[in-house]
Amino acid sequence: MLISFVWAGLSGSALRIDMKPWAETFYNSPAWKRTRYAYSKSVAHLCERCGEPGVIVHHKVQLTPENVHDPSVTLDWSNLMLLCRDCHAAVHKPEKRYKVDELGRVITWEDSK
Ligand SMILES: [Zn+2]
Ligand SMILES: [Zn+2]
Repeated sequence: MLISFVWAGLSGSALRIDMKPWAETFYNSPAWKRTRYAYSKSVAHLCERCGEPGVIVHHKVQLTPENVHDPSVTLDWSNLMLLCRDCHAAVHKPEKRYKVDELGRVITWEDSK
């Protein structure tokens, strides 16, 4: 059995999802940096969940290797949410479930809310 189930959010693994190698090019792209800044500014740089200073622009539809090149997912403001670190962890923690293969690559994940 090469596939194992892992609960994201345990020991901050949600953040590791965001920095998967296939996503690095996107997160380093000028288009994302521009969008992230403009979006953050549009909500006054405040966390949309608790009102503290926001630091992470979260994708409501989680990026995957399939959609990471689709600007309607990656750069559309309707898919973005500015969060502080605590809220970002909370948003990812309870409900994100994903499978990884034997190389640690994420295969699928889903909301169970
Ligand atoms: Zn917050
Ligand atoms: Zn996120």
